[in-house]
Amino acid sequence: MTLARSRFARLLVAADGTDSAIRTTLGIPLQQHDYGQTAIVTAVEVERDLDGCAYERFTDSGPMALLPLDRRRAGLVMALTTEQAASVLTMADEEFLAFAEQRFGTRLGRWRKVGQRQLWPLHLKFAERVTDARIVVIGNAAQTIHPIGAQGFNLGLRDALALADVVAAHRADAGSVAALAEYAERRREDRERTTRFSDAMVRFMASDLPIGPLRSLALLSAEHVPLLRHALVHASMGFR
Ligand SMILES: Cc1cc2nc3c(=O)[nH]c(=O)nc-3n(C[C@H](O)[C@H](O)[C@H](O)COP(=O)(O)OP(=O)(O)OC[C@H]3O[C@@H](n4cnc5c(N)ncnc54)[C@H](O)[C@@H]3O)c2cc1C
Repeated sequence: MTLARSRFARLLVAADGTDSAIRTTLGIPLQQHDYGQTAIVTAVEVERDLDGCAYERFTDSGPMALLPLDRRRAGLVMALTTEQAASVLTMADEEFLAFAEQRFGTRLGRWRKVGQRQLWPLHLKFAERVTDARIVVIGNAAQTIHPIGAQGFNLGLRDALALADVVAAHRADAGSVAALAEYAERRREDRERTTRFSDAMVRFMASDLPIGPLRSLALLSAEHVPLLRHALVHASMGFR
């Protein structure tokens, strides 16, 4: 693919995801890390009402999140080591439900039904720059982070919001050098900070070092110390 067509547009927005063809064609360098984890993504039905609550559990092989779809249906994102995920994918439905329920605990009662399962290898990909001549790279194309803490989508939305502001402020030429420099500068700190935060969380939770008690203490403190809980929730929700 060539990007000759960008000569005919004032601004090309590359929002084409993790393996962005536009970013690749531009040769933008990436900081990358393979977490050695793969997420199994599916929908499940549980016995008790979710009451609109989302849950996240942290395990040695990766986090597990349940996101409410309706009263008793939830999207399940379960990160496992890549070898474990391959074998869990082939489990019969009943075996899979028992496995997932055992990891999650009894809070929502028995797990009853499971939909089709998909695998998502989990990588960090952080573009070292997000602009080129008349081109801006946003969302997963600019930074793909681990789903721990569920921050990727909000981070991409903040890219889009900042870009909308910059475009509005530079109506005469939204793809000018000044506009693109302003966008890159506006997004620099949030991109770096959110990516570092999620990367540090994954490494801490999945560390092979004998820090189990420290990990439990950190999670307990986050639950019981309001100031700490507030700070963690604030950082996790991406409020800036
Ligand atoms: C397992 C998993 C669970 C996650 N859970 C959460 C969560 O709970 N909360 C959260 O905030 N984030 C979560 N995320 C992250 C979230 O999915 C991403 O942040 C979000 O999808 C990024 O959106 P995007 O539009 O930038 O990229 P994408 O969602 O990857 O969309 C890119 C789109 O571009 C299209 N495209 C590519 N090339 C072209 C082309 N040439 N022409 C036209 N279209 C093209 C693709 O088809 C795709 O539709 C999760 C991610 C994973 C992998």
